[in-house]
Amino acid sequence: MNDVVQLAHSSRVSRMNDDTAEHSDIEKTFRDVFRWIGEDPDRDGLRDTPSRLIRAYQEYFAGYRQDPEHILQKTFEETDGYDEMVVLRGIPFESHCEHHVAPIIGRAWVAYVPNRRVVGISKLARVVEAYARRLQIQERLTAQVANVIDQVLKPQGVGVVIKAAHHCMSSRGVHMHGTDMVTSRMLGCFRDNPMTRQEFMSVVHSKVDE
Ligand SMILES: [Zn+2]
Repeated sequence: MNDVVQLAHSSRVSRMNDDTAEHSDIEKTFRDVFRWIGEDPDRDGLRDTPSRLIRAYQEYFAGYRQDPEHILQKTFEETDGYDEMVVLRGIPFESHCEHHVAPIIGRAWVAYVPNRRVVGISKLARVVEAYARRLQIQERLTAQVANVIDQVLKPQGVGVVIKAAHHCMSSRGVHMHGTDMVTSRMLGCFRDNPMTRQEFMSVVHSKVDE
């Protein structure tokens, strides 16, 4: 599916401008920041850094060009009545906090109990990535992943657990290393049925390579 169709599908999908005139404006802004911190933006090592930063930002924030609803659109119904939990464990992701634009490095556990329809397992990882590659807070990232799976697949339930280290905690402010934050969102049978929740949490606590 091409970009134009994706854009038509959802007005929330925005486009990062590839316009070169705009790029030169942003490069100038990065040069101003370098000057402000006490650097010489014209020295050899920094001359190409603004354009590298633009490419890095296009990668860090590629999620604004991806539509998670669209990613989940293609489902399979020939499951022979499979109605047990599906879990994708320890999906690695990189995000950036919206308060400091500092990295959030973590893993997500995404589970659902299907209601006739299942989705290709890689799509769950792509949904995590589509939301992670935006300016985020971990709570919202967790809720967005669970909500979109709930809305599009209409499963019996969804569980999402995210564990992540926040570099704005370790490299600035309180300078706290070695902590991570855990958030979860449970919907449907994951919220209502303690057995389902327990089954999911035991998968979350098991090692990924087991
Ligand atoms: Zn932060």
